[in-house]
Amino acid sequence: MTTKDLHAVMNEHLVKELYAAYLYLSMAAYFESENLPGMAGWMRAQSGEEYQHAMKFWEHISDRGGRVRLLAIDEPPSDFKGAIDAFEQALEHEKQVSAEIDKLYERAEEEHDHAAEVFLQWFITEQVEEEKTAQQMVDTLKMAEDSPAALLMVDREFGSRGTATG
Ligand code: MG
Repeated sequence: MTTKDLHAVMNEHLVKELYAAYLYLSMAAYFESENLPGMAGWMRAQSGEEYQHAMKFWEHISDRGGRVRLLAIDEPPSDFKGAIDAFEQALEHEKQVSAEIDKLYERAEEEHDHAAEVFLQWFITEQVEEEKTAQQMVDTLKMAEDSPAALLMVDREFGSRGTATG
């Protein structure tokens, strides 16, 4: 694999981060339709973070002399069985992203591309946080599962999330 090949797979990953932004935005639309504004806001903030992840790849590829190409973004699911289902899908998605980042890191190691390794280390740390947060959301929602009043309280708590942090 050459650095050019590495940039090509990073470019594919950039599009997957955009897909993540699209997926969370779809979940935000779902929560808005379910009158759960706290969770909708949380998902919109998460979507913004995923867009920033994509742009980090953009900057790395571009800074290293590569060329970014925007590929098609898959259509995300738009219907969910409930809040637990949506957050479980978010958790599964983050696990997939973590596995992809790990693969990219291995490729950077094979290529002895130390700049790419350092760049990807930020994402490895970020993914630990993303998985932890999604798991906490699922666990919290499961505790509130059988009580609409508890679900509304959880929604209010989720709504307290800032727009810039995870
Ligand atoms: Mg991401």
